[in-house]
Amino acid sequence: MRVLITGGAGFIGSHLSDAMIRDGHHVAVLDDLSTGSVRNLSSVADHASFQFVEGSVLDAPLVSRLIGSADAVVHLAAAVGVRLIVDEPLRSMHTNLRGTENVLEAASGHLPRVLIASSSEVYGKSRELLHEDSDRLLGPTTVDRWSYSVAKSVSEIYAFAYWREFGVPTVVTRFFNTVGPRQTGAYGMVVPRLVAQALLGEDLTVYGDGTQTRSFCHVADVVRAQIALLEFPAAVGQVYNVGSNDQLTILDLAHRILNITGSSSSIRLVPFTETFGPLFEDVPRRSADTSKLENLLGWEPKFGIDDIIEDVMGAALEGDPGMLLGRTPVSR
Ligand code: UDP
Repeated sequence: MRVLITGGAGFIGSHLSDAMIRDGHHVAVLDDLSTGSVRNLSSVADHASFQFVEGSVLDAPLVSRLIGSADAVVHLAAAVGVRLIVDEPLRSMHTNLRGTENVLEAASGHLPRVLIASSSEVYGKSRELLHEDSDRLLGPTTVDRWSYSVAKSVSEIYAFAYWREFGVPTVVTRFFNTVGPRQTGAYGMVVPRLVAQALLGEDLTVYGDGTQTRSFCHVADVVRAQIALLEFPAAVGQVYNVGSNDQLTILDLAHRILNITGSSSSIRLVPFTETFGPLFEDVPRRSADTSKLENLLGWEPKFGIDDIIEDVMGAALEGDPGMLLGRTPVSR
């Protein structure tokens, strides 16, 4: 396959690029390097079947040209991370909405398979075990966090509409807290942040009272699901949760990180308002029901939370833990 990966220099995209090159595909990456880095692509950069294009998904003619020679597109380019969304809501919405529209519009020409990356944020603050048809529960439009949820929901609706009205074979994946090496904590992302703090001997900043839950999934498991979905015809026109249902509180996560890193750091509870200002809402519980994906592909996560922490710690120790906190500038 000739695959175009938008946002391929980012965290998930670069792992997907590695895996698809390993599997013998041709990979073109489109990335504007706003949050990604060419360092993430160092293992594939010189491969004959790999091409990197520096540019934006907002550049419709460029997107159209690249999609014109692709059998499949994985659209990952997006503004992601609670910090980034709260700091730059307008730019984030613009990138996330217009970028998806450009990709789908270009795909309506010759109909490559298109995987659209969505997010568990579309479920909002619902406390249920989340399956694909669950109702969504969002806070008020004055809270910036929900703009990301809305933008991703609209992206999904675009994907379904382009499939039904133009026959673009789209598949939507809803990622739940994907974690692993190369993820930066500069824009939120609790695991790289707390691991870096533990390694640097700093307090682990747990927001709120730490009783909120998340279920973390290793990026290698996520990439495996993406590739299988790309190759599976019955997935077209459908949405799939991709994540783990192994829920833990953020306080529990912090304790595990202290144990695994052997750090003597303390845990410090930080009020949400101190970090995000007065207009902020967190998601109190989040856990993925992935039975739809399991039934289709037999997919389930292979890595648990302790494996994830060990991998993130290992990668941080090879580089500079400060980079995970966005302190050391990431070289392009
Ligand atoms: N969080 C935290 N300390 C941090 C960063 C995040 O306690 O330094 C919390 C955050 O408030 C949320 C959870 O960890 O409850 C997951 O945050 P992340 O930004 O990783 O993902 P999301 O909120 O999008 O699930």
